Order: sequence, then structure tokens, then C-alpha cells
Amino acid sequence: MAYTISDDCISCGACEGECPVSAISEGDGKYVIDSDACIECGACADTCPVGAPQQ
Ligand code: SF4
Ligand code: SF4
Repeated sequence: MAYTISDDCISCGACEGECPVSAISEGDGKYVIDSDACIECGACADTCPVGAPQQ
């Protein structure tokens, strides 16, 4: 299962640059993950200050 970003996201952008496959982009009110591109590395979850990315 790809990671997804919950509504807890504060759109800080910290995770976007950490994703090795550039699967994260700014969405409407929160950041979003392309589930087809995500390789489930967990880097976004490790970086996020509010724990929004979840598997
Ligand atoms: Fe990118 Fe890894 Fe997060 Fe998937 S788990 S969105 S590959 S940083
Ligand atoms: Fe949202 Fe967390 Fe990514 Fe910041 S690091 S944009 S709060 S998911």
C-alpha cells in the first residue's frame, strides 16, 4: 500500500524534497502522494512534523 497524507497536513512542504521518486506534490489544502509512484520508503513520514503521511 502506498503512503497517503492525512488532513493533518499543514502544507509545510518538507516532505516533497525528501521523496526519492518525486511522488509528493502540493494539492488543494494539503500535500498529496501519487500512489502509483510511491515506493513506500517512509522518508516522508520520517520528515513530517505532524505525522500526516501514513501507510
Ligand atoms: Fe515518497 Fe517514500 Fe513517501 Fe512514498 S513513502 S511518498 S516514496 S517519500
Ligand atoms: Fe504536509 Fe507533513 Fe508534508 Fe509538511 S511534511 S507538507 S505537514 S505531509
